[in-house]
Amino acid sequence: MSPIGVFGGTFDPIHYGHLRSAYELLQDLELGEVRFVPSAAPPHRGSTFAPAELRYRMVEVAVAGQDGFVVDDCEFHRDGPSYTVDTLTAIRAERDAASLCLIVGMDAYLGLTTWHRWTDILGLAHIVVAHRPGWQLPNTGALGELLAECGTEDVGELHRQSCGRIYHHAVTQLEIASTEIRELVAAGKDPRFLMPDGVRDIIVASGCYTN
Ligand code: ATP
Repeated sequence: MSPIGVFGGTFDPIHYGHLRSAYELLQDLELGEVRFVPSAAPPHRGSTFAPAELRYRMVEVAVAGQDGFVVDDCEFHRDGPSYTVDTLTAIRAERDAASLCLIVGMDAYLGLTTWHRWTDILGLAHIVVAHRPGWQLPNTGALGELLAECGTEDVGELHRQSCGRIYHHAVTQLEIASTEIRELVAAGKDPRFLMPDGVRDIIVASGCYTN
């Protein structure tokens, strides 16, 4: 069975930066699927701008029709902060010995040591860091030690083993951030072409980012 990509995020809102990275990883790493997991209650943020159900709906609309892209609502069935370690535990229980690849952007990876039970994550999944061409992963500190121990440049290991490796992969980096989208919508501008039209339609109809 091909590895399962697990792509968590606040997705407030989802945009082409997320979608393009996930698509390149799906193809380049020959993943069986990419599961987008909208965070119900992101631990690192006080509150979100769009409510959880609307963020989920935007992800659902964004991935509709793309083979291999699925949305996972597992974080909506738990109370309290949505910790990645709990999400991976739930997917692991469902998928038994499958290879799981937690997909993170470089910014998220650099904050890994602040995550709840972060040292347990590699016991549940590989970590795939999507970064812009030319960037290197940190090779000092706790993350440097982790990379020395668990890093691999062999994508085949992500297929042969179910968890435990850190792999980095350059993807086309689109300079789009949800924060900027929210700001431009709040300023009365149209976010068209930064995200699929269906996502833009939800933003416009709901007024979720309009001050
Ligand atoms: P915000 O601006 O609200 O912080 P964001 O655009 O960074 O949001 P998140 O939902 O926080 O989006 O990110 C989810 C994941 O997607 C993270 O791992 C992050 O590193 C990655 N990511 C965010 N923006 C991009 C982008 N433009 N290209 C590739 N990956 C991205």
